[in-house]
Amino acid sequence: MPRVIIQPAAGADARAHYEDTIRQPVPIPRIRTQLAAVGLPLPDVLASLTAVPVWGVTPGSRGQNARCWEQVQPGDVALFYGQKRFFASSVVIGKIHAATLARDLWGNDPNGQTWEYVYFLDEITDRSISVDAFNQIMRYSANNIPQGFQVVADGRAEDLLALFSLESSTSIPAVSPSEYNTLVELPAGELDRQTLVNQRLEQRFLRRHLFQGHSSRTCCICGRNLPVELLVAAHIKRRADCTAEEKRDYQNLVAPMCQLGCDDLYERQYITVDHTGTIRRNPNLPLTSDLQDVVAPLEGRACPAWTPGTQQYFEWHARNQRRRAS
Ligand SMILES: [Zn+2]
Repeated sequence: MPRVIIQPAAGADARAHYEDTIRQPVPIPRIRTQLAAVGLPLPDVLASLTAVPVWGVTPGSRGQNARCWEQVQPGDVALFYGQKRFFASSVVIGKIHAATLARDLWGNDPNGQTWEYVYFLDEITDRSISVDAFNQIMRYSANNIPQGFQVVADGRAEDLLALFSLESSTSIPAVSPSEYNTLVELPAGELDRQTLVNQRLEQRFLRRHLFQGHSSRTCCICGRNLPVELLVAAHIKRRADCTAEEKRDYQNLVAPMCQLGCDDLYERQYITVDHTGTIRRNPNLPLTSDLQDVVAPLEGRACPAWTPGTQQYFEWHARNQRRRAS
């Protein structure tokens, strides 16, 4: 489960650091040189990059920041706070304890400490999240002001991620197959908080299954190669109609479909995949002429997700075609 890092960046120093090493990502050669000077290797995750946003925290007066930083893991979401708002979010891709690098990037603070507990970021996104909403979720008093570096690791992290849509679209935190199998056994509950959390975990597992390690993949309907953030792990057979046993067959149950239309066209059954693996339009649904222009190039394409294993789910989808009285 990803954690949420609360990173105050309100003072003049912090604002300058934000400009210098977040808005202007740090060139990798500079990092490599500073690490090499003290015998540290460049973290693997940086090897393929040319520059990376970097942040760091001092040990803290009693070592409290260092202890928090120990918990930070790739996939965690960092929220930057200043001027009564969370003004940016980002996703952690790695970290290193490196005072030399920190001194080179930012110097020392007035107490002679440097920001040596360093972490590397991706997906920097401008935000404007009010501290009021944050205080409510965290069950803090209404006048709370985030003041220290803090890592939220309990259930409130999931709430923050959900309510502010913070989760990374490319780096997908792990949900194990056994966790997934437990989730699909659960009765379909009310639309309460726990049900929403479970659905998010399930979707995360399926996305990881299809997309982990890929920056782009091919939509199985239109054949376009797209960034994975524009693709969904689509249920070939409608999820609500699947038994737990079918859900456990996730290798065959889901396929990559794009959010540029294919996922909706398939889910709403404007198109289906026939018993030969060929994409067909649903003759029972009237199309506007503009929609006809979208569907026509798809008709007759071979769907690469159609396999002996997925066939039964595509057949269910084709058999249960929606009809609309015209
Ligand atoms: Zn598509």
